[in-house]
Amino acid sequence: MKYYSTREKQYVNIQQAVLKGLAEDGGLYMPSEIPQLSQDFFENIENLSLPEIGFEVAKAFLGNAIPDQHLKNIVDDVLNFEIPLIPIHDNLYSLELFHGPTLAFKDVGARFMARLMSYFSQRKTMKVIAATSGDTGSAVAAGFYNVPGIEVYILYPKGKVSPLQEKQLTTWGGNIKALEIEGSFDDCQALAKQLLADEEMQKYQVTSANSINIARLIPQSFYYFWAYAQLKKQNKKVVFSVPSGNFGNLTAGLFAYKMGLPVEHFIASTNLNKVVPDFLETGIYTAKPSIPTISNAMDVGNPSNFERMKDLFQNNIDQFRAIISGYYFNDEETRNALQEVYQKYNYLLDPHGAIAYLGLSKYLENHPDYCGVLLETAHPAKFLEVVEDCISELVALPERLAAFNQKEKTAELLPVDYDRVKDFIKTS
Ligand SMILES: *Cc1c(COP(=O)(O)O)cnc(C)c1O
Repeated sequence: MKYYSTREKQYVNIQQAVLKGLAEDGGLYMPSEIPQLSQDFFENIENLSLPEIGFEVAKAFLGNAIPDQHLKNIVDDVLNFEIPLIPIHDNLYSLELFHGPTLAFKDVGARFMARLMSYFSQRKTMKVIAATSGDTGSAVAAGFYNVPGIEVYILYPKGKVSPLQEKQLTTWGGNIKALEIEGSFDDCQALAKQLLADEEMQKYQVTSANSINIARLIPQSFYYFWAYAQLKKQNKKVVFSVPSGNFGNLTAGLFAYKMGLPVEHFIASTNLNKVVPDFLETGIYTAKPSIPTISNAMDVGNPSNFERMKDLFQNNIDQFRAIISGYYFNDEETRNALQEVYQKYNYLLDPHGAIAYLGLSKYLENHPDYCGVLLETAHPAKFLEVVEDCISELVALPERLAAFNQKEKTAELLPVDYDRVKDFIKTS
């Protein structure tokens, strides 16, 4: 299978697509055709485990680029935690994607990408650069921790991440190095971009964990099949509500759909950063500066994966509308939903899941006979202050999060000075 860039349609193989991340023309990589899964696979899907489903789907994307047994090991290793489908009420379910090491769904993509990079780089050393404003950095760190041949450099803005987030970035040791930059997130991102574009750095095989790597999307399609497998015997139409920011998660769902998964519809649920719901309504896409909200992992004003969605639908608005509906909600609606679901159904959502719940509930009003699945993308304790404030109760910090607090921070404190940052990365 070949992969092409969404811009100039240059073709590469999967190895190049994964190691490069972003294409030279600035586009994102897409599979040259969406692979189809066999009728047999769908007939038997309810008898398969999550890793078994993951293997079949991964194999369809990767072909023979990785030997079967090795790919099996990778998928087993990535999915060594549960992804339970929890009924909330009636025909509405929550697919809990947050049982990985950093308690957010980004673990799934980061872990798979790390293992693919390690395999494709053939254990030559690589330096992975990640600028972070908080949560992506910890998923990347956890994903790459102890992966042979890969050194990870996380650039984060001093004093601008929460104390717990900082612990999740700075306490790994081993192949994970934290650079505490005396500047803003934008400074960190600018430094990372400069490093990636620097000729001299190419001999160190620098690559980005921020760019929208196709290896992050492939494993995110696994769990759509997994949820469907568990609902299949109900014989109802299935709709997924995806709390969206950069639209990677929703794009992965669209891959699953195009691979033959019988999904009836998708809901793009957003906060006030609503460029995609606006596009679905008006047919016009207008990037906007991002607006801060309590579901801050979705504060994206120009979602990078929109480029992939356009490619999938040949930029045809009718094709978009046939399969996706968009809804957006403000912070007050988000808080109310979180509170109401907790009080009525004793189920605690995080702010991102609450937005997915709102979108799904709205859609199910007009489709009461459908089965609805919301993607719950983070553990509520990751947004402790907001959640506790909504339900007026304390929320216990899961052990995995609390454990970070006990560990010692190690970070290299550096000014916004390109040469010093580069020097550190070259020599450590
Ligand atoms: C990143 C993130 C999202 C948004 O996912 P996209 O794939 O960028 O649309 C939603 N919820 C949480 C908790 C996230 O971390």
